[in-house]
Amino acid sequence: MKSKWNDQDAAHCVAGYARQGIGEALALRVYTSRLIGGDPALVLHGGGNTSVKDVAPDLAGRAVPALYVKGSGWDLASIEPPGFPAVRLAPLLALRDVPALSDEAMVNALRVNLLDAAAPSPSVEALLHAFLPQRYVDHTHADAILALVDQPDPQARCADVFGDRLAVLPFVFPGFPLAGIAARAYEAQPDVEGIVLVHHGLFTFGETARESYERMIAWVSRAEAALAAGSGKGRRKPFAAASPPAANLPKGHLARLAPLLRGALGSEDPLAAGGVRRMILHHRSSAGIRAFVDGKELGDYARRGVSTPDHIIRTKNVPLILPPYDDAHADSYAVACRQAVADYVAEYKAYFEAGAGRSAGAKAMLDPLPRIVLVPGAGLFAAGRNEREAVIAADIYEHTIDIVRLAEGLGRYTPLEPQALFEMEYWSLEQAKLGKGGEAPLARQVTLVTGAASGIGAETALIFAAQGAHVVLLDRDARGLEAVAARVAATGVGTLSVTTDVTQPKQVAAAFAAAAVRFGGVDIVISNAGKVWQGAMADCSDADLRASFELNFFAHQHVAAEAVRLFRRQQTGGQILFNASKSAFNPGPGLGPYTLPKAATIALMRQYALDYGHLGIRSNAVNADRVATALFGAGVLEARAQARGLSVEAYLSGNLLGKAVGVRDVARAFLSLALAERTTGAVLPVDGGNIAAAPR
Ligand SMILES: [Zn+2]
Repeated sequence: MKSKWNDQDAAHCVAGYARQGIGEALALRVYTSRLIGGDPALVLHGGGNTSVKDVAPDLAGRAVPALYVKGSGWDLASIEPPGFPAVRLAPLLALRDVPALSDEAMVNALRVNLLDAAAPSPSVEALLHAFLPQRYVDHTHADAILALVDQPDPQARCADVFGDRLAVLPFVFPGFPLAGIAARAYEAQPDVEGIVLVHHGLFTFGETARESYERMIAWVSRAEAALAAGSGKGRRKPFAAASPPAANLPKGHLARLAPLLRGALGSEDPLAAGGVRRMILHHRSSAGIRAFVDGKELGDYARRGVSTPDHIIRTKNVPLILPPYDDAHADSYAVACRQAVADYVAEYKAYFEAGAGRSAGAKAMLDPLPRIVLVPGAGLFAAGRNEREAVIAADIYEHTIDIVRLAEGLGRYTPLEPQALFEMEYWSLEQAKLGKGGEAPLARQVTLVTGAASGIGAETALIFAAQGAHVVLLDRDARGLEAVAARVAATGVGTLSVTTDVTQPKQVAAAFAAAAVRFGGVDIVISNAGKVWQGAMADCSDADLRASFELNFFAHQHVAAEAVRLFRRQQTGGQILFNASKSAFNPGPGLGPYTLPKAATIALMRQYALDYGHLGIRSNAVNADRVATALFGAGVLEARAQARGLSVEAYLSGNLLGKAVGVRDVARAFLSLALAERTTGAVLPVDGGNIAAAPR
């Protein structure tokens, strides 16, 4: 690992922040914090923390000694000066003489001494930063350090590698207890350049930003060199392959495996949509991951636990390990998956009950489901409430794999014991990092929308995304899809677009497979794509009628059939929403080629409701009327108005409410049906009121 310090960049950073009134000390703190945050071998996703001691002006304009320390909610990779709340230093230093301090009292002490009441809460390690006298303090969970301290004899290993240049502390619970012990360790060895925390990470410090940062790089590099030398001494290679080696998952099988797994991870929850709390999956399969999951001793090394306690809230302590996927016996594999998840949950409950029994204060069990699932031959699946959480878990686990490999190359990977981790997992200050707040009504669900590049489809995708659903967009129009996908992704949900002609069954199947690979499956399908064909029945061409049936009926059948195939693999219900038309009940003159397949689509919807209700699959339709969209090609709207003897304006608002119907009204109707848990086989009109079009 090399120092990325660059004089020019540092000067540029100082000059830039000076224009905002930010002093040099904090500007350089931001600069080297970003250097640290930008290297995933040092810290990941909000991990680590840094500080600088300087002065800050109080309201009277006096310069007050202050600690600028990383605030919660900020990531070192992208931190800005407001990410370093300033805390009065003197009252923090006074806490050194306090014999004990509860978490609540510590958080309170930090907040009441903020110079800006609106600033984010200082890091849980703020007192440690305050108690160390050096101006700059940097803290990471570097992979190489963890490989060295996650050993049966970490103190001896550290003494070998670092001599007396770093103090070494046994694992101590973070917060107030660690702050006092670290300060005493430093005072006993005031010449050290940093402190190694066994099973946790490394602190370095210095009088300048550069000194503290470069000490971090130097000591992590020293650990890297020791690991490289240690693993070169003819030791056994980590992750020896199983024999026979796990076969590569055949092409196409990932899309078949992922929904089985996602279904097995769904848990009953009366408060969740459809009564099932789902997970979003994220799959990875690099050479490094495959070596790890295909190893014959996977069940041993993968079950030893997280490399640093901070990671437990993201990955849980151990992954779920499944056997290689066997597509020829998919049904029994699905049963085995569900049993493995049930066993994992039972083991977690036992861990919780044992931990809660020892722990002071009442605790409520967290979601017991695994966050990492390992499948030999297939790689790693991460699970989360949303794709972002799953990606974070996967990133952390990929580094865990590196750390285990390095540690096994040196000796034996031996992280902190689960009993000690319980307090960390259930520490309120740790859980606070995950953020609070309820989930949106369609959170954890994946919605697939056809005809999504414009009109009703685009609006429906946006409305479902706003309710928390991840969205898969299908359309023939690749450019249109791109624009809609950008708008959907801006709402913060995972978004996938697949250019698809829904009249082609193979393309439909490929789109569902892409959704399964990306998110683990699909829960709600909105079969929306359609187009108007006109002509009086005796005069319309056979080709036109068949083309209309291809898109306005058979495409719905292709999409619905593919949806049911996927839903069956998930075994967590699902729903299909069809965009039919009021013409199914109330045909318009000269609109037969459009009306006939739409009427058949209503019958199709009812047949799906009937055939698959016992699997918890709901099937419903929206009958919209007179919505001005691209569905009406050039001149079609005018022709339809003329066929009724009306102006375009009168045609559009010719309903009981006297109001034109917009794409948003139709999108909202789809959402209403999606949330109507006990409704199936139904048609919801969106026509402003038209008694003649009522089902009868
Ligand atoms: Zn830490």
